[in-house]
Order: sequence, then C-alpha cells, then structure tokens
Amino acid sequence: MNQIKNVSVIGAGTMGNGIAHVFAMKGYNVKLIDISAEALEKALATIGKNLDRMVAKEKITETDKSSTLANINTSTNIEEGVKEADLVVEAATENTALKLKIFKTIDENAPEHAVLASNTSSISITKIASVTNRPDKVIGMHFMNPVPVMKLIEVIRGYATSDAVTEGIVEISKDLGKVPVEANDYPGFVANRILIPMINEAIYALHEGVADVMGIDTVMKLGMAHPMGPLQLADFIGLDVVLAICNVLYEGFGNPKYAPCPLLVNMVTAGKLGRKSGEGFYSYTHGTKELIVADNFK
Ligand code: NAD
Repeated sequence: MNQIKNVSVIGAGTMGNGIAHVFAMKGYNVKLIDISAEALEKALATIGKNLDRMVAKEKITETDKSSTLANINTSTNIEEGVKEADLVVEAATENTALKLKIFKTIDENAPEHAVLASNTSSISITKIASVTNRPDKVIGMHFMNPVPVMKLIEVIRGYATSDAVTEGIVEISKDLGKVPVEANDYPGFVANRILIPMINEAIYALHEGVADVMGIDTVMKLGMAHPMGPLQLADFIGLDVVLAICNVLYEGFGNPKYAPCPLLVNMVTAGKLGRKSGEGFYSYTHGTKELIVADNFK
C-alpha cells in the first residue's frame, strides 16, 4: 500500500468530525467533505471544542491544537475533495443506496492508488466494493463513538479486499493510537451484531412495560457494569442509525429475531432521533449533564 498522507473524510456528522480530528492530530492532511455547509461549520466548531477540552486536561498543547486545525480543510464537492486522496474514509448517513452512489463517485474521481474505506456500522463492504473498479482496495474502517476517545477500530475485509490493504489499514489504525480488530464481512460485523440486538431488546422491554427508561438503564449500568444504559446509548448513537442497523441485520440474516421494535420505528418516524435531535428516550434541551427522561416516557 502507498504512503498515506492525504485523507479525505466524507460526511461531517457525529462520526466524520471525530475521524477528521484524529487523522489531523496525527499530521495527516485532511479534507472534510459534506453536502451540507452547515454540517461542515458545526463539525469544525465541535473539533475546536474537543481540542480545547484536551488542552484544558493538559493532554495536548495550544500549538498541537492549532496545527491540528491547520491540517483540516473542508469542501462541499466530493469530486474535487477526493482528487488528491491516498485514503478516503466515508462516514455519510447509514443508507445503502446513498453509500453505493458515493463510492461510485469516489472511485471515478480518486487516484488509482487510493484506498477507499467505509465507516459503515453494518452495510456489506463486499456490496459497497462491487460498485467500484477496485474491490481489492475497499475496506471497512469502523471507528467507535466518540472517535477521539474510543480505542477500537473494527477493520472489515470484504470478499475481495487484499492482504496488503488490510495490513495497511491495521498499521494506520495503530498509528492513530487505536487498537484494530479484524472482522469478516457479515451483517453487523462483530460490534453491532451483538450491541444492536441488545439495544432493540431494551426498547422492547420499555415498549412492553417491563420497566421504565431509568429502570432499564440502571439495571444494565449497575447490574452489568455498562458505563451507559442501552437506551441512553441508543440516544447517543442516533435512533435513525440504530434502526438502519436493525434493518440490515433483519434483511441480512432473514431472521425475525432482528426485527426492529415498533416503538423504535415510531420514534424515528416522529423525528425523535436521540441526542442529535434534542430528544429520544431522554431530553437534551435543558443544557445540563443531568439525565432527564423525555416527556413521552414520564
Ligand atoms: P450523521 O447523521 O451524524 O452524519 C452523516 C453526515 O453525512 C451528515 O452531516 C450528512 O449531511 C452527510 N451526508 C449525507 N449525504 C452525503 C453525501 N452524499 N455526501 C457527503 N456527505 C453526506 O451520521 P453518523 O452517526 O456520523 O454516521 C455516519 C456513519 O458512521 C454511518 O455509516 C454510521 O452507521 C457510522 N457509525 C455511526 C456511529 C454512531 O455512533 N453514530 C458509530 C460508528 C459508525
């Protein structure tokens, strides 16, 4: 695999800003791309805030902060934004048709040597690779949320991903200070095959009245030593993302045990997407760190 210097990150939402942050902090030239100029602006503000927090904790210096920010450029044009890329990391919305369209565009515009990675939580890497002319260079690079804090990167080999590309991505993951774990390309890979059915089951427990929001999360926090309960975690991930992954598992395995809970479907339809929309199982509009259950569940 060629030397990687220029990294284009596509999608500047929850995950994209964190991915841009960690690459830029390690000295890579980052081009952060989104269709929404507002998302790009918000992403730069979030990166700035997260770097400030690291400066305050004396994990980095003011100079590290400025050089990290100087390593990030933004663009609303994918075609232009990937022209110089050695590595593209796609972190756009979890939607199969959208990702296939984006990968076709990247493949047509990125240099021939560029490796194309997806941060997808669940969509088949083999399927994504199939719309490109370089399936050997397409791979899953699944960061965890929040990216600057979480150590794991799931590295997913598609059916045609080459050994050299897999080894290269494992090395870059280590260079970012992360711990890569290799997984094969089956629905949900490892992380979400196990996590999402647990979250969906917690939503079913709420839906059936087994316990209330706080009760379910407290059982999992105090009983299973989870740092965050499953309903709070669902809000943190984004309920639309949780639903999309549930559907990939359901369709991919053809097994009704993965069917999304109707309450989850209703909440997404109503625009209650968790933290990013201001309300999910909890409410996030009060501006404090305190956990406040959303009115619908009181
Ligand atoms: P998000 O909704 O916060 O952000 C998605 C961004 O993609 C938005 O800013 C949107 O404007 C942008 N986008 C949409 N279409 C685009 C296009 N054609 N070109 C460029 N940008 C486009 O989503 P997210 O939570 O950051 O998730 C992104 C990816 O990361 C998904 O594949 C998701 O499954 C995966 N992921 C999410 C989490 C999580 O906890 N949220 C964790 C791991 C992986």
